[in-house]
Amino acid sequence: MLVAVNTTTDTVVTGALVAATASGQYECLFCETPLVADTAAEDPLEAFTHANGTDCLHNDNASRAHRIGEELISRELCQWLSHWFGLSPQEVTVAAEKHVGTDATWMIADVRVSDPIQLAVEVVYLSSSLNLRERLALLFDQEYTGMVVVVANGGVSPMRIERHLSSVGAIQVGTVDPDRFEASIGSVLTPDHVDLSPDAWQPVPAYLA
Ligand SMILES: [Zn+2]
Repeated sequence: MLVAVNTTTDTVVTGALVAATASGQYECLFCETPLVADTAAEDPLEAFTHANGTDCLHNDNASRAHRIGEELISRELCQWLSHWFGLSPQEVTVAAEKHVGTDATWMIADVRVSDPIQLAVEVVYLSSSLNLRERLALLFDQEYTGMVVVVANGGVSPMRIERHLSSVGAIQVGTVDPDRFEASIGSVLTPDHVDLSPDAWQPVPAYLA
């Protein structure tokens, strides 16, 4: 794992920085099991390992940049929600690659916050078809809000995606820089902000719509 909750300081820390300040008890942001900090790890994604030996995230089909994006955005959301709701990071429930919906209609959210708000984040990285309209409709049906985050070196710039989506709403997308380990969150999308009518989506390029 790249990020971890430091339960001693009640903060979310990132692997690249932890070598300098390695003290505290660490636990997984997603599955809440204890993590072991490896300050000598050369790969930042191995800065923390699950003490029980099993990684709760699947590495197989997610690209490295996508995985980094999921972890960094989870960190940002955790800090943001902790601040706004006066909660410790441990009181924010965040998961990666988990479903939203019911047996009949469901989707996998790259990042899913279920408490204190319901929010699903789409991390866009070289995606061939995002089906964003359909996914937002499902989220809104399930009383979830949405967010779009773009991996900065993924071939499509965040600004371009914002421009492409301008016909459906004033949407600010979040960004991830997987090389510098920086991330920013985007607008929280609700039915009030996003027009899901087919007309509004007409100008949106097929890879997004
Ligand atoms: Zn975990």
